[in-house]
Amino acid sequence: MSLAAVEELARDGRLYPSTILHGGDLHARLELAQELARALLCEAPPQERPCGACRHCSRIEVATPSEQGKADAEAPFHPDFRVLSRDLKASTSVEAVRALLRLTQQHPFEARGQVLVVAEAETLTGEAGNALLKTLEEPPTGAPRHFLLLAPTQEALLPTLRSRSWAVYLGPPESLDQGRVETLADAFAAPLEAWESTGNGVYLLLAAAALEGAGGWEDLRAQRPWGMAAAAVARCAHRAAPGDLRRRLWGLAQDLLEAPRWRLRNVLPQRILEGLLARRLAPVVPAGRSPARALG
Ligand SMILES: [Zn+2]
Repeated sequence: MSLAAVEELARDGRLYPSTILHGGDLHARLELAQELARALLCEAPPQERPCGACRHCSRIEVATPSEQGKADAEAPFHPDFRVLSRDLKASTSVEAVRALLRLTQQHPFEARGQVLVVAEAETLTGEAGNALLKTLEEPPTGAPRHFLLLAPTQEALLPTLRSRSWAVYLGPPESLDQGRVETLADAFAAPLEAWESTGNGVYLLLAAAALEGAGGWEDLRAQRPWGMAAAAVARCAHRAAPGDLRRRLWGLAQDLLEAPRWRLRNVLPQRILEGLLARRLAPVVPAGRSPARALG
């Protein structure tokens, strides 16, 4: 399933009870989990979810690995949203999973459903995975419960769990240098802001050029530059105010992960980047001048 499709299903409340978010890095998986949880519980009209501002959105926050030192008292709390982190050195225990599942036996406190995130599902013990499976097979009635299972690869999960879940792929499961992603995101954000305020398409070309700064494009099969570019765009989406631009940026991040197929046809990276930005961010471009034609 594509990221855009999953986000739309979440906004409409039609997401499958169990969704696996795999690939990418832990940071990207946690950010997407937060975005989906907000979309699922947000009280704005569906097309505006997640609004980022309502009493649900504002209290749903997933601590990223760099923020995990943050004192508990500072972390916002939502009673219908829970993130289960690994509790043992190398695994997530059946006891921890049972404690999470007990929450699903209660009716949601405030929201229309519950969202439960397993942050490192690849570390679930066999027993823990089976406990979770049982709840998926006999779901509590009354209100929707959504499980988001995060893992580097979906193959790391029990086949029975996989067969009961939808899966969303976030790109090659390699660890990207977060400092470089941050720098690339800043370089992309500047022309993007200029484009947003002026509408001048030149800035979109500059934004595409900024993403080319990911480097390493010479190898036609390389996934890494696309992963870097996607992570930088996802970072900007995360920073952006909720709304249309933010949704377009999430879509663009997904497009970039699927872009290596163009590169394999020997299309220049610059053309691909310009085409994807034009298609996603400025759907209306003068006929005959659309860089998207390079991808036709
Ligand atoms: Zn909201």
